Amino acid sequence: MKNECFENDIKAVPYIFNKLKIIDHEGEQFLHGQLDIVDASGKHYDTYTVEIKGSKDYPYRFPKLYETDDSFLKIADWHVYESDKSCCVDVTPNEIILCKDGLSIIDYIKRFAIPYLANQTFRKREGYYLYGEYSHGIFGRIEFYQSKLKAKNPLELLKMFDLIIKDYNPSRPAFCPFCYKTKFRTCHRTAFKELQNIKAFLYNDGIALISFFKKNPDYKLPQPSA
Ligand SMILES: [Zn+2]
Repeated sequence: MKNECFENDIKAVPYIFNKLKIIDHEGEQFLHGQLDIVDASGKHYDTYTVEIKGSKDYPYRFPKLYETDDSFLKIADWHVYESDKSCCVDVTPNEIILCKDGLSIIDYIKRFAIPYLANQTFRKREGYYLYGEYSHGIFGRIEFYQSKLKAKNPLELLKMFDLIIKDYNPSRPAFCPFCYKTKFRTCHRTAFKELQNIKAFLYNDGIALISFFKKNPDYKLPQPSA
């Protein structure tokens, strides 16, 4: 998708990633070329042919990454959006948080595109993802929220959503309404503050979760250990 900010930012990319070139196709400019997967010592593991295109909300959302050599399957199980075959680099709520101050294309390539591709290489060789992974669709979003909020049950998770949307921010000595014996600022405050950046998204996901929990009354929330 044509995005002026993206087209301006990509001018610097070929100076840093010299196998990426700017392509002009039907009035839209985007990046095309190779990204190498190398470790800290410079050892080469893999090379991917990619296209990186503007997205509607770049730099407040990721640009679109496409792997064009059929190096991995273009299905959800390989973290690819089946609708447009673009790479699913992170779950949407986390993507919005990561991009909240604007994320430059160079940071995106270094911090997200290359690690995503490195993870694909690891999985091709070993059969699983090195750093674990989120599930797809609503399960992935629940896992993401639980990694931050650690709610004990669905009702508590929805209660947390409600308080986050309402900008819940009690006084410093207040006890947490979920952890009882700890002060809010030492347990849930950081996660609440972070998720307050995506209130609109949380509101919509809350509605989706209410109907999901109604349809699946026996569903147990994943309980992250850390
Ligand atoms: Zn707490």
